[in-house]
Amino acid sequence: MDLDLEQYRVTPGHDFKLASISPDDTGGIQKSDRSKDAFNATLREIWDLQERLYAEGEQALLLVLQAMDTAGKDSTIRKVASGINPQGCRVYSFKVPSANELARDFLWRVHAQVPRKGHIGIFNRSHYEDVLVVRVKGLAPIEVVDKRYEQINEFEQLLHETGTRVIKIMLHISKEYQRERLLRRLRREDKLWKFNPGDLKERARWDDYMEAYEIMLNRCSTEAAPWYVVPAENRWYRNLVIGGLIRDTLTEMNPELPDLDFDPADYPPESIV
Ligand code: ADP
Repeated sequence: MDLDLEQYRVTPGHDFKLASISPDDTGGIQKSDRSKDAFNATLREIWDLQERLYAEGEQALLLVLQAMDTAGKDSTIRKVASGINPQGCRVYSFKVPSANELARDFLWRVHAQVPRKGHIGIFNRSHYEDVLVVRVKGLAPIEVVDKRYEQINEFEQLLHETGTRVIKIMLHISKEYQRERLLRRLRREDKLWKFNPGDLKERARWDDYMEAYEIMLNRCSTEAAPWYVVPAENRWYRNLVIGGLIRDTLTEMNPELPDLDFDPADYPPESIV
């Protein structure tokens, strides 16, 4: 399957516009048995690579997920994490900061959740809330928010230099698609629990959010920790792209099985009684 993942990377130093990526793009690929097989094959590759990452115990991978409500963060995690051994993976969901967290700098709670060496960490929301919702709702002075982009870049650079690869994914949907998803939640009894009337207030600020996302993508996509804007309206394609990004990043990290401190030849079958 010919997947061009680089087209979704926000290139540092270029003026990136969200409008340049269509939320319903499928990269010229059709949903089919072949696309399904390709995704399953990707999951198997991730499984093997993760086992090596775990055995090596020297590097970690952090996947940051950001999106508007209903874009499918939860189902992305369910699908993609199905190819990861739970033993070496942890998902952390960032909520409204507690009083305890607000009494520290904004990265304090984030740093504490960074995956340990050998592990994969998935952030469902992240420190980027501190330049998204906080910016849009004016929860901190704009001068404070403006400094955060560079602070985030330095934090992620530190992670990179100390063995943690960071990839950041924005699930990209349109306002119209969000409307369909909200209506679906209201229509389906089993999905009603996901409907939060408060989400409509955020929806009303859609354009402000898109502006905040664009600023964030332009200022925080770096060589060390790139942003990818993934078309998310076709969920099978979204899974294929995100699976591919994880696989390619792990492949590049090239985790190696550790050197043995014993000789297997010293342990013939008859020695194991
Ligand atoms: P989700 O929508 O991710 O399934 P919730 O409904 O619990 O989960 O939403 C979490 C809420 O926490 C979101 O509204 C998000 O904007 C908010 N939040 C997360 N981090 C911050 C932050 N640093 N400052 C303010 N609000 C935040």
